[in-house]
Amino acid sequence: MIVVADLARTYLMGKVAVHALRGVSFTIGSGEFVGIMGPSGSGKSTLLHALGLLDRPTAGTIEIDGTDVLALSERQKTRFRLHRLGYVFQDYALMPELTVEENVFLPALVGGMQKEEAIRISGEILAEVGLLERRAHLQGELSGGEQQRVAIARALMNNPSILFADEPCANLDTTTSKTILDLFERLNEERGQTIVMVTHEDWHIDYFCRVIYLRDGLIERTEECEKGRRRR
Ligand code: ADP
Ligand code: ADP
Repeated sequence: MIVVADLARTYLMGKVAVHALRGVSFTIGSGEFVGIMGPSGSGKSTLLHALGLLDRPTAGTIEIDGTDVLALSERQKTRFRLHRLGYVFQDYALMPELTVEENVFLPALVGGMQKEEAIRISGEILAEVGLLERRAHLQGELSGGEQQRVAIARALMNNPSILFADEPCANLDTTTSKTILDLFERLNEERGQTIVMVTHEDWHIDYFCRVIYLRDGLIERTEECEKGRRRR
């Protein structure tokens, strides 16, 4: 469960203060698939960075599965992120000189996993995302959708309870986007992973159980979505 209270983030640009988040509060339950939407510049990425412990908010609290994560030391925060959270970026953030398999298992070694175990688990996950036969390929040999599935596989290595995705389909066509969203849906349903995803595509709402709409750094509204009333 994620409990956010009065979260604020101000960026200082010289003498100019940009209030990217101006006090947002909400709760996301375990196993929810939640969308974060809103116009460009409304604070979506800033919010996701804060939840993923990639950025330090200016004020407010974030509690994840009972831990007050902003109170952790930098070292504890890194540990928490490595073991409990997965993060997927719009631009995949893969290492082009590494193979698919190395991209997936090497970060887990940094987290302390033994190499043999890492290779075994990465094989299982690559099979799960349908990329096992591509494991020896380089990024440059993959389509955009395949690259994003590698990034998702990497995020799954430590079996995180929460997966954050920042516009994961922004560079993909509609058909490929559907395969990525179907994969998230499967992870959500079969692994019970909580998924929090930023998007600006209205049709993605069909996959969410709830949408948090941001505007100018505040929550404009929250909308429950009816599962099973999908247009797909
Ligand atoms: P969104 O993801 O909804 O497009 P962002 O969270 O990226 O919104 O940005 C919210 C506001 O904060 C925008 O005005 C943006 O220009 C500003 N902003 C985001 N990141 C930074 C940064 N690193 N430095 C300064 N301003 C930033
Ligand atoms: P998106 O919302 O499409 O994910 P962002 O608007 O968040 O992209 O921008 C991507 C990166 O640029 C982020 O790391 C963000 O912090 C940074 N950024 C965004 N707006 C600004 C800004 N006005 N000044 C400096 N950095 C910014």
